[in-house]
Amino acid sequence: MSYFPKEMPRPVPAMNDTEFLRGCAERHLRFQACAACGMLRHPPMPICSHCHSTAEKWVEAPTTAKVYSFTVVHHASHPAVKASLPYVVALLEFPALPGVRLVSNITHVDPSEVRIGMQVDLWWDDIGEDMFLPRFRPMEKIKA
Ligand SMILES: [Zn+2]
Repeated sequence: MSYFPKEMPRPVPAMNDTEFLRGCAERHLRFQACAACGMLRHPPMPICSHCHSTAEKWVEAPTTAKVYSFTVVHHASHPAVKASLPYVVALLEFPALPGVRLVSNITHVDPSEVRIGMQVDLWWDDIGEDMFLPRFRPMEKIKA
């Protein structure tokens, strides 16, 4: 069962994020990097903003991240999320991958316990039809 109800809109692959979503479907969190200078970038883009190369490669992300910022959502922006309120939308960073930040959800925790700098661990949310989305939960909740 997925974190949000099945009525939640699914990601629709666009030109630049097809490869990112393919990785998600395989339960691999991969970020795009420039194959010429190595600069990481997310969301995926067709050209490197640093050296203007169009060559790309994909780098596997670690399964742990750190909360860079977050918000607690109290008002449903879509009818599908009404039953999930309140929930946490977080901007996550990966210390081993400088420059990459990912928008995701922090789950398995009371939203009032989420803190900036909190260490979180990746889990794959099965949203059906062979698709998975990366979501995160506090590391101490896994050990407990
Ligand atoms: Zn580059």
